[in-house]
Amino acid sequence: MKDNFDIAVFHGDGIGPEIMAPTLDILRDLASLGGYRLSFHDCAAGAAHYAKTGESLPAMSMQTARQSDAILLSAMGLPSVRYKDGTEISPQIELRKALNLFAGVRPVRIFPGQKTPLNMPEGREVDFVLIRESTEGLFHTQGRGEVSQNEARETLLITRETSELLFRFAFNLARERKAAGRGKGLVTCVDKANVFRAFAFFREIFDAQAANYPDLQNDHAYVDAMALWFVQRPWDFDVLVTENMFGDILSDLGAGLMGGLGVAPSADIGLHHAVFQPCHGSAPDIAGQGIANPLAMILSAAMMLEWLGLREGHARMAADGAQLRDATEAVIAQGDVLTGDLGGSARTLEAAGAVSAALKGA
Ligand code: ATP
Ligand code: MG
Repeated sequence: MKDNFDIAVFHGDGIGPEIMAPTLDILRDLASLGGYRLSFHDCAAGAAHYAKTGESLPAMSMQTARQSDAILLSAMGLPSVRYKDGTEISPQIELRKALNLFAGVRPVRIFPGQKTPLNMPEGREVDFVLIRESTEGLFHTQGRGEVSQNEARETLLITRETSELLFRFAFNLARERKAAGRGKGLVTCVDKANVFRAFAFFREIFDAQAANYPDLQNDHAYVDAMALWFVQRPWDFDVLVTENMFGDILSDLGAGLMGGLGVAPSADIGLHHAVFQPCHGSAPDIAGQGIANPLAMILSAAMMLEWLGLREGHARMAADGAQLRDATEAVIAQGDVLTGDLGGSARTLEAAGAVSAALKGA
Protein backbone atom coordinates (compact mmCIF):
# COMPACT_ATOMS: atom_id res chain seq x y z
CA MET A 1 0.00 0.00 0.00
CA LYS A 2 1.18 3.47 -0.81
CA ASP A 3 2.13 5.31 2.38
CA ASN A 4 4.00 8.39 1.22
CA PHE A 5 1.84 11.21 -0.09
CA ASP A 6 2.91 14.42 -1.81
CA ILE A 7 0.96 17.44 -0.69
CA ALA A 8 1.30 20.73 -2.58
CA VAL A 9 1.02 23.55 -0.04
CA PHE A 10 -0.02 27.09 -0.96
CA HIS A 11 0.64 29.24 2.11
CA GLY A 12 -1.06 32.20 0.45
CA ASP A 13 -1.58 35.82 1.45
CA GLY A 14 -2.76 37.71 4.52
CA ILE A 15 -3.61 35.31 7.33
CA GLY A 16 -2.80 32.35 5.02
CA PRO A 17 0.66 31.51 6.38
CA GLU A 18 -0.53 32.03 9.98
CA ILE A 19 -3.27 29.40 9.73
CA MET A 20 -1.31 27.03 7.49
CA ALA A 21 1.69 26.60 9.83
CA PRO A 22 -0.19 25.10 12.82
CA THR A 23 -2.31 23.01 10.44
CA LEU A 24 0.80 21.40 8.95
CA ASP A 25 2.09 20.70 12.48
CA ILE A 26 -1.11 18.83 13.31
CA LEU A 27 -0.93 16.86 10.04
CA ARG A 28 2.71 15.92 10.72
CA ASP A 29 1.81 14.62 14.18
CA LEU A 30 -1.10 12.56 12.83
CA ALA A 31 1.02 11.08 10.03
CA SER A 32 3.88 10.12 12.31
CA LEU A 33 1.50 8.38 14.72
CA GLY A 34 -0.41 6.79 11.84
CA GLY A 35 2.67 5.34 10.16
CA TYR A 36 2.34 7.21 6.85
CA ARG A 37 4.25 10.13 5.40
CA LEU A 38 2.99 13.44 4.15
CA SER A 39 5.66 15.28 2.13
CA PHE A 40 4.78 18.97 1.99
CA HIS A 41 5.92 20.88 -1.08
CA ASP A 42 5.71 24.66 -0.73
CA CYS A 43 4.21 26.43 -3.75
CA ALA A 44 4.76 30.12 -4.32
CA ALA A 45 1.63 31.91 -5.56
CA GLY A 46 -0.77 34.70 -4.70
CA ALA A 47 -1.01 38.46 -4.53
CA ALA A 48 2.19 39.17 -2.58
CA HIS A 49 4.10 36.91 -4.98
CA TYR A 50 2.55 38.75 -7.94
CA ALA A 51 3.56 42.12 -6.50
CA LYS A 52 7.16 40.88 -6.24
CA THR A 53 7.49 38.94 -9.49
CA GLY A 54 4.58 39.78 -11.83
CA GLU A 55 3.40 36.15 -11.63
CA SER A 56 0.48 35.00 -9.48
CA LEU A 57 0.73 31.28 -10.22
CA PRO A 58 4.25 30.33 -11.41
CA ALA A 59 4.54 27.33 -13.76
CA MET A 60 6.67 25.54 -11.15
CA SER A 61 3.88 25.79 -8.58
CA MET A 62 1.32 24.61 -11.12
CA GLN A 63 3.53 21.64 -11.94
CA THR A 64 3.99 20.75 -8.26
CA ALA A 65 0.22 20.95 -7.81
CA ARG A 66 -0.38 18.67 -10.80
CA GLN A 67 2.10 16.09 -9.56
CA SER A 68 0.83 16.05 -5.98
CA ASP A 69 -1.65 13.65 -4.40
CA ALA A 70 -3.59 16.56 -2.92
CA ILE A 71 -3.38 20.33 -2.72
CA LEU A 72 -3.74 22.28 0.50
CA LEU A 73 -4.37 25.99 0.14
CA SER A 74 -5.01 28.69 2.73
CA ALA A 75 -6.25 31.89 1.10
CA MET A 76 -4.95 34.08 -1.69
CA GLY A 77 -5.54 37.62 -2.86
CA LEU A 78 -5.19 41.08 -1.34
CA PRO A 79 -7.41 44.10 -2.06
CA SER A 80 -4.34 46.29 -2.63
CA VAL A 81 -2.82 44.09 -5.36
CA ARG A 82 -4.63 43.62 -8.66
CA TYR A 83 -3.97 42.40 -12.18
CA LYS A 84 -3.47 45.13 -14.77
CA ASP A 85 -7.12 44.86 -15.84
CA GLY A 86 -8.21 45.66 -12.27
CA THR A 87 -9.49 42.19 -11.33
CA GLU A 88 -8.48 40.43 -8.12
CA ILE A 89 -5.52 38.07 -7.94
CA SER A 90 -7.12 34.65 -7.68
CA PRO A 91 -4.80 31.74 -8.52
CA GLN A 92 -7.29 29.44 -6.77
CA ILE A 93 -9.72 30.07 -9.64
CA GLU A 94 -6.97 29.32 -12.17
CA LEU A 95 -6.25 26.05 -10.34
CA ARG A 96 -9.94 25.17 -10.41
CA LYS A 97 -10.03 25.70 -14.18
CA ALA A 98 -6.65 24.17 -15.05
CA LEU A 99 -7.29 21.00 -13.00
CA ASN A 100 -11.00 20.85 -13.91
CA LEU A 101 -12.19 20.80 -10.30
CA PHE A 102 -15.89 20.75 -11.09
CA ALA A 103 -17.22 19.77 -7.64
CA GLY A 104 -17.04 22.42 -4.92
CA VAL A 105 -17.76 20.56 -1.70
CA ARG A 106 -19.06 22.66 1.24
CA PRO A 107 -20.05 20.70 4.33
CA VAL A 108 -22.50 22.45 6.66
CA ARG A 109 -22.58 21.00 10.16
CA ILE A 110 -24.19 22.28 13.34
CA PHE A 111 -23.96 20.03 16.36
CA PRO A 112 -24.96 20.35 20.02
CA GLY A 113 -23.11 23.17 21.77
CA GLN A 114 -22.21 25.02 18.59
CA LYS A 115 -23.23 28.68 18.37
CA THR A 116 -25.61 29.30 15.49
CA PRO A 117 -28.09 32.05 14.63
CA LEU A 118 -30.70 29.29 14.16
CA ASN A 119 -33.18 28.17 16.75
CA MET A 120 -32.24 24.52 16.81
CA PRO A 121 -34.97 22.24 18.13
CA GLU A 122 -33.77 19.95 20.94
CA GLY A 123 -31.91 16.90 19.67
CA ARG A 124 -31.54 18.14 16.08
CA GLU A 125 -28.23 18.24 14.23
CA VAL A 126 -27.46 19.76 10.87
CA ASP A 127 -25.16 17.69 8.70
CA PHE A 128 -25.43 18.25 4.98
CA VAL A 129 -23.03 18.80 2.10
CA LEU A 130 -23.59 21.42 -0.55
CA ILE A 131 -21.96 20.62 -3.89
CA ARG A 132 -21.39 23.64 -6.06
CA GLU A 133 -20.51 23.13 -9.72
CA SER A 134 -17.34 25.18 -10.01
CA THR A 135 -16.28 25.46 -13.65
CA GLU A 136 -19.28 26.73 -15.62
CA GLY A 137 -22.85 27.94 -14.85
CA LEU A 138 -23.23 31.69 -14.46
CA PHE A 139 -19.49 32.07 -13.95
CA HIS A 140 -18.87 30.94 -17.52
CA THR A 141 -18.22 34.43 -18.87
CA GLN A 142 -16.56 35.62 -15.67
CA GLY A 143 -14.42 38.63 -16.54
CA ARG A 144 -15.49 38.38 -20.21
CA GLY A 145 -19.08 39.57 -20.04
CA GLU A 146 -20.19 41.88 -22.85
CA VAL A 147 -20.76 45.42 -21.67
CA SER A 148 -21.79 48.32 -23.88
CA GLN A 149 -23.13 51.74 -23.01
CA ASN A 150 -26.66 50.52 -22.37
CA GLU A 151 -26.49 46.79 -21.98
CA ALA A 152 -24.52 44.07 -20.27
CA ARG A 153 -24.69 40.34 -20.89
CA GLU A 154 -23.27 37.24 -19.24
CA THR A 155 -23.84 33.64 -20.28
CA LEU A 156 -25.18 30.76 -18.18
CA LEU A 157 -23.55 27.58 -19.45
CA ILE A 158 -24.66 24.10 -18.46
CA THR A 159 -22.98 21.19 -20.27
CA ARG A 160 -24.11 17.59 -20.27
CA GLU A 161 -20.57 16.34 -19.70
CA THR A 162 -19.85 18.39 -16.58
CA SER A 163 -23.37 17.95 -15.21
CA GLU A 164 -23.13 14.16 -15.50
CA LEU A 165 -19.80 14.17 -13.65
CA LEU A 166 -21.22 16.51 -11.04
CA PHE A 167 -24.35 14.45 -10.38
CA ARG A 168 -22.41 11.18 -10.26
CA PHE A 169 -20.10 12.79 -7.73
CA ALA A 170 -23.11 13.86 -5.64
CA PHE A 171 -24.77 10.43 -5.72
CA ASN A 172 -21.49 8.66 -4.91
CA LEU A 173 -20.94 10.98 -1.97
CA ALA A 174 -24.47 10.30 -0.68
CA ARG A 175 -23.76 6.59 -0.99
CA GLU A 176 -20.49 6.91 0.97
CA ARG A 177 -22.18 8.95 3.67
CA LYS A 178 -24.99 6.43 3.96
CA ALA A 179 -22.49 3.58 4.21
CA ALA A 180 -20.68 5.50 6.95
CA GLY A 181 -23.97 5.80 8.85
CA ARG A 182 -24.12 9.59 8.55
CA GLY A 183 -26.27 10.56 5.64
CA LYS A 184 -29.89 10.00 4.75
CA GLY A 185 -29.14 8.62 1.31
CA LEU A 186 -30.80 11.62 -0.27
CA VAL A 187 -29.58 13.91 -3.08
CA THR A 188 -31.45 17.15 -3.80
CA CYS A 189 -30.94 19.04 -7.04
CA VAL A 190 -31.24 22.80 -6.48
CA ASP A 191 -32.15 24.79 -9.57
CA LYS A 192 -34.59 27.25 -11.10
CA ALA A 193 -36.07 24.91 -13.66
CA ASN A 194 -39.41 26.71 -13.59
CA VAL A 195 -37.91 29.81 -15.20
CA PHE A 196 -34.78 28.87 -17.17
CA ARG A 197 -34.46 26.27 -19.90
CA ALA A 198 -30.82 25.77 -18.92
CA PHE A 199 -31.97 24.63 -15.49
CA ALA A 200 -34.64 22.37 -16.93
CA PHE A 201 -31.80 20.76 -18.90
CA PHE A 202 -29.72 20.53 -15.70
CA ARG A 203 -32.65 18.82 -13.95
CA GLU A 204 -33.21 16.35 -16.80
CA ILE A 205 -29.59 15.25 -16.56
CA PHE A 206 -29.97 14.92 -12.79
CA ASP A 207 -33.04 12.71 -13.20
CA ALA A 208 -31.26 10.50 -15.71
CA GLN A 209 -28.34 10.00 -13.32
CA ALA A 210 -30.67 9.42 -10.37
CA ALA A 211 -32.08 6.38 -12.17
CA ASN A 212 -28.62 4.76 -11.86
CA TYR A 213 -28.78 4.95 -8.06
CA PRO A 214 -31.91 3.01 -7.03
CA ASP A 215 -30.51 2.61 -3.50
CA LEU A 216 -30.70 6.39 -2.95
CA GLN A 217 -33.54 8.89 -2.82
CA ASN A 218 -33.57 12.03 -4.91
CA ASP A 219 -35.49 15.25 -4.91
CA HIS A 220 -35.62 18.72 -6.54
CA ALA A 221 -35.91 22.18 -5.05
CA TYR A 222 -35.96 25.71 -6.41
CA VAL A 223 -33.08 27.79 -5.17
CA ASP A 224 -35.27 30.49 -3.63
CA ALA A 225 -37.20 27.92 -1.61
CA MET A 226 -33.91 26.30 -0.61
CA ALA A 227 -32.65 29.61 0.82
CA LEU A 228 -35.75 29.64 3.03
CA TRP A 229 -35.33 26.00 4.05
CA PHE A 230 -31.66 26.53 4.96
CA VAL A 231 -33.04 28.66 7.78
CA GLN A 232 -36.28 26.80 8.54
CA ARG A 233 -35.35 23.11 8.33
CA PRO A 234 -31.70 22.55 7.39
CA TRP A 235 -31.66 19.25 9.30
CA ASP A 236 -33.78 17.64 6.57
CA PHE A 237 -31.03 17.66 3.91
CA ASP A 238 -28.16 15.35 3.09
CA VAL A 239 -26.42 16.09 -0.22
CA LEU A 240 -27.44 19.18 -2.19
CA VAL A 241 -26.13 19.76 -5.69
CA THR A 242 -26.38 22.99 -7.63
CA GLU A 243 -25.04 25.37 -10.26
CA ASN A 244 -22.00 27.62 -9.68
CA MET A 245 -23.64 30.95 -8.78
CA PHE A 246 -26.42 29.42 -6.69
CA GLY A 247 -23.77 27.37 -4.89
CA ASP A 248 -21.64 30.45 -4.29
CA ILE A 249 -24.51 32.19 -2.54
CA LEU A 250 -25.88 29.19 -0.64
CA SER A 251 -22.43 28.24 0.64
CA ASP A 252 -22.00 31.62 2.33
CA LEU A 253 -25.47 31.20 3.83
CA GLY A 254 -24.37 27.78 5.06
CA ALA A 255 -21.20 29.25 6.58
CA GLY A 256 -23.36 31.84 8.35
CA LEU A 257 -25.53 29.11 9.86
CA MET A 258 -22.42 27.32 11.12
CA GLY A 259 -21.34 30.41 13.04
CA GLY A 260 -19.15 32.14 10.48
CA LEU A 261 -16.44 31.85 7.88
CA GLY A 262 -13.85 30.90 10.50
CA VAL A 263 -15.31 27.39 10.78
CA ALA A 264 -16.34 26.70 7.16
CA PRO A 265 -14.07 24.29 5.27
CA SER A 266 -14.24 23.41 1.58
CA ALA A 267 -12.83 21.19 -1.13
CA ASP A 268 -12.72 21.57 -4.89
CA ILE A 269 -12.60 18.14 -6.43
CA GLY A 270 -12.13 16.83 -9.97
CA LEU A 271 -11.46 13.41 -11.43
CA HIS A 272 -7.72 13.53 -10.81
CA HIS A 273 -6.99 16.39 -8.43
CA ALA A 274 -8.41 18.12 -5.39
CA VAL A 275 -7.79 21.41 -3.57
CA PHE A 276 -8.70 21.78 0.11
CA GLN A 277 -9.08 25.27 1.49
CA PRO A 278 -11.16 27.27 3.98
CA CYS A 279 -14.16 29.18 2.55
CA HIS A 280 -12.83 32.48 3.85
CA GLY A 281 -10.43 34.88 2.14
CA SER A 282 -7.06 36.22 3.25
CA ALA A 283 -8.60 38.57 5.88
CA PRO A 284 -6.01 41.35 5.43
CA ASP A 285 -7.75 43.38 8.16
CA ILE A 286 -6.43 41.01 10.84
CA ALA A 287 -3.31 39.62 9.13
CA GLY A 288 -0.01 39.58 11.00
CA GLN A 289 -1.57 39.75 14.44
CA GLY A 290 -1.74 36.04 15.22
CA ILE A 291 -5.46 36.18 15.95
CA ALA A 292 -6.98 34.50 12.86
CA ASN A 293 -9.20 31.48 13.39
CA PRO A 294 -7.34 28.37 12.15
CA LEU A 295 -10.32 26.00 12.50
CA ALA A 296 -11.68 26.29 8.93
CA MET A 297 -8.17 25.54 7.65
CA ILE A 298 -7.82 22.58 10.01
CA LEU A 299 -11.25 21.24 9.01
CA SER A 300 -10.20 21.54 5.35
CA ALA A 301 -7.07 19.52 6.14
CA ALA A 302 -9.31 16.92 7.80
CA MET A 303 -11.36 16.70 4.60
CA MET A 304 -8.10 16.18 2.69
CA LEU A 305 -7.08 13.23 4.87
CA GLU A 306 -10.52 11.67 4.52
CA TRP A 307 -10.66 12.14 0.76
CA LEU A 308 -7.12 10.90 0.18
CA GLY A 309 -7.57 7.98 2.57
CA LEU A 310 -10.76 6.83 0.81
CA ARG A 311 -9.28 7.34 -2.63
CA GLU A 312 -6.05 5.49 -1.89
CA GLY A 313 -7.65 2.80 0.24
CA HIS A 314 -5.64 4.00 3.25
CA ALA A 315 -8.07 3.35 6.09
CA ARG A 316 -5.88 4.84 8.82
CA MET A 317 -5.51 8.13 7.01
CA ALA A 318 -9.26 8.34 6.35
CA ALA A 319 -9.95 7.59 10.02
CA ASP A 320 -7.44 10.28 11.03
CA GLY A 321 -9.37 12.77 8.90
CA ALA A 322 -12.63 11.93 10.66
CA GLN A 323 -10.92 12.14 14.04
CA LEU A 324 -9.38 15.51 13.23
CA ARG A 325 -12.82 16.79 12.25
CA ASP A 326 -14.35 15.46 15.47
CA ALA A 327 -11.56 16.99 17.59
CA THR A 328 -12.01 20.37 15.91
CA GLU A 329 -15.78 20.24 16.38
CA ALA A 330 -15.26 19.35 20.04
CA VAL A 331 -13.19 22.53 20.46
CA ILE A 332 -15.97 24.57 18.81
CA ALA A 333 -18.67 22.96 20.96
CA GLN A 334 -16.69 23.35 24.20
CA GLY A 335 -16.30 27.03 23.41
CA ASP A 336 -13.58 27.95 25.92
CA VAL A 337 -10.64 28.32 23.48
CA LEU A 338 -12.12 30.28 20.59
CA THR A 339 -10.74 33.15 18.51
CA GLY A 340 -12.30 36.61 18.32
CA ASP A 341 -14.55 35.91 15.32
CA LEU A 342 -16.34 33.28 17.47
CA GLY A 343 -16.59 35.58 20.48
CA GLY A 344 -13.50 34.29 22.31
CA SER A 345 -10.08 35.80 22.94
CA ALA A 346 -7.76 32.92 22.02
CA ARG A 347 -4.91 33.43 19.59
CA THR A 348 -4.42 31.34 16.44
CA LEU A 349 -1.87 29.02 18.02
CA GLU A 350 -3.98 28.56 21.16
CA ALA A 351 -7.01 27.50 19.13
CA ALA A 352 -4.88 25.10 17.07
CA GLY A 353 -3.30 23.83 20.30
CA ALA A 354 -6.75 23.07 21.68
CA VAL A 355 -7.40 20.86 18.63
CA SER A 356 -4.12 18.99 19.21
CA ALA A 357 -5.04 18.51 22.85
CA ALA A 358 -8.51 17.22 21.87
CA LEU A 359 -6.86 14.79 19.43
CA LYS A 360 -4.56 13.45 22.11
CA GLY A 361 -7.48 13.07 24.47
CA ALA A 362 -9.42 11.12 21.84
P1 ATP B 1 -12.47 36.80 -0.60
O1 ATP B 1 -12.94 37.71 -1.66
O2 ATP B 1 -11.05 36.35 -0.79
O3 ATP B 1 -13.42 35.68 -0.30
P2 ATP B 1 -13.59 38.42 1.39
O4 ATP B 1 -13.61 39.83 0.93
O5 ATP B 1 -14.84 37.64 1.27
O6 ATP B 1 -12.38 37.66 0.72
P3 ATP B 1 -12.44 37.52 3.87
O7 ATP B 1 -10.98 37.65 3.67
O8 ATP B 1 -13.02 36.17 3.86
O9 ATP B 1 -13.15 38.52 2.88
O10 ATP B 1 -12.83 38.25 5.22
C1 ATP B 1 -14.16 38.67 5.53
C2 ATP B 1 -14.21 39.04 7.01
O11 ATP B 1 -14.12 37.85 7.80
C3 ATP B 1 -13.04 39.92 7.46
O12 ATP B 1 -13.47 40.85 8.42
C4 ATP B 1 -12.07 38.94 8.07
O13 ATP B 1 -11.28 39.49 9.08
C5 ATP B 1 -13.00 37.86 8.63
N1 ATP B 1 -12.33 36.54 8.59
C6 ATP B 1 -12.15 35.76 7.49
N2 ATP B 1 -11.48 34.66 7.79
C7 ATP B 1 -11.23 34.71 9.11
C8 ATP B 1 -10.55 33.84 10.03
N3 ATP B 1 -10.01 32.69 9.65
N4 ATP B 1 -10.47 34.24 11.32
C9 ATP B 1 -11.03 35.38 11.73
N5 ATP B 1 -11.66 36.24 10.93
C10 ATP B 1 -11.77 35.91 9.62
MG1 MG C 1 -15.56 36.08 0.01
